[in-house]
Amino acid sequence: MAQRPPPHPDLQFRVQAREGEARAATFETPHGTVRTPTFMPVATKASLKGVTNAQLEALAPDVMLANTYHLHLRPGEDLIRDQGGLHGFTGWQGPWITDSGGYQVFSLAGRTEVREDGVTVRSHLDGTPVQLGPTRAIEIQEALGADLIMAFDHCLALPASRDMLQAAVDRTTRWTRACVEARTRDDQALFGILQGGTDAELRQRSADGLVPLDLPGYAVGGLAVGESSEQMRAALDVTTPLLPDAKPRYLMGVGLPLDLLDAIHSGIDMFDCVLPTRNGRRGWLWTRDGTVRIAAREHARSDAPLDPECTCEVCTTHSRAFLRHLFKTGEHTAVTLGSIHNLTFLFDVVRTARARIFEGTFAAWRTSFRERYQRGEATWQAAHDADPHAAQRSQAARRADDPPPP
Ligand SMILES: [Zn+2]
Repeated sequence: MAQRPPPHPDLQFRVQAREGEARAATFETPHGTVRTPTFMPVATKASLKGVTNAQLEALAPDVMLANTYHLHLRPGEDLIRDQGGLHGFTGWQGPWITDSGGYQVFSLAGRTEVREDGVTVRSHLDGTPVQLGPTRAIEIQEALGADLIMAFDHCLALPASRDMLQAAVDRTTRWTRACVEARTRDDQALFGILQGGTDAELRQRSADGLVPLDLPGYAVGGLAVGESSEQMRAALDVTTPLLPDAKPRYLMGVGLPLDLLDAIHSGIDMFDCVLPTRNGRRGWLWTRDGTVRIAAREHARSDAPLDPECTCEVCTTHSRAFLRHLFKTGEHTAVTLGSIHNLTFLFDVVRTARARIFEGTFAAWRTSFRERYQRGEATWQAAHDADPHAAQRSQAARRADDPPPP
């Protein structure tokens, strides 16, 4: 007789305040308490690009995310397990979450073959075939040792045909059951991932398959993969109510400030995205008045801070002129400072949202934040005759710093 999988850990998820659908909550992991809404920075290879642990300490993320596929390739999960898992290996002792590698099926499309038992991905490093599937994804994630782990899912780029989406929903349900069966640890909380694109019926079908598994948390996958902001909002509005109210709800791969606020408004608790650091590295810096392209000539002689209301090291120490100089000359500190500022900004957005939910003023604050932010973006758009979000969206809000598709 097959051994029963161990019980799921109890996250002790507790909603502390509500405003409409939005909620402020906490849950417990073996490495600390998570306060939601929360944004989880993406350390693709177990390191946040350009940011040291000491700098991370100041940012104080509640959860850090690392990528199973990338760590499986380099340095390998066995090495990380032998170094004490992600906590011992990186020295970051707060909660970690790992993705399942399923997302790379999407982001490395063209290099993947999908079968019933999993996928073969041709490594982006040297073309070697890498086998991933529900069982393997759990084995690797158990070796990496994160507090929160993700079920292996089948994510499609949008637009996709209904038949393809339905097949991916059903496959994701079967794979999630296989993930539950493959577990051998009882201290890692496994989250299921709903698929179904922007189709309300398929989202319901996905929930019908996954919610009865009674997992510790649920994620909305398959968004921020090519659809517009409006389509994403509409899909969220039908999907979020399908997720259990008494468990954390995680929207994967979303990181633009206004998208985050919309999702919190619809009842989402957790987010991850590479955009703050990726945009930070290229000098696209978020402020309360929209995105500042720091390399633009208009900042060459500006002694103003990047965002006068931001409390980060960048905004309290440097002028726009100095920052522009660092980016224009390719100084290494530009990457670090850009990342620190964008992360500070996004943390400030989610933490303010949390505080506002407690006060019952979240909806009003969200409206005023959005108006001011959009006013800044519109000014830039008028001056440059370009859509300020198009380029950021074309990056696709990725969950890993994957190489571009071949
Ligand atoms: Zn700042």
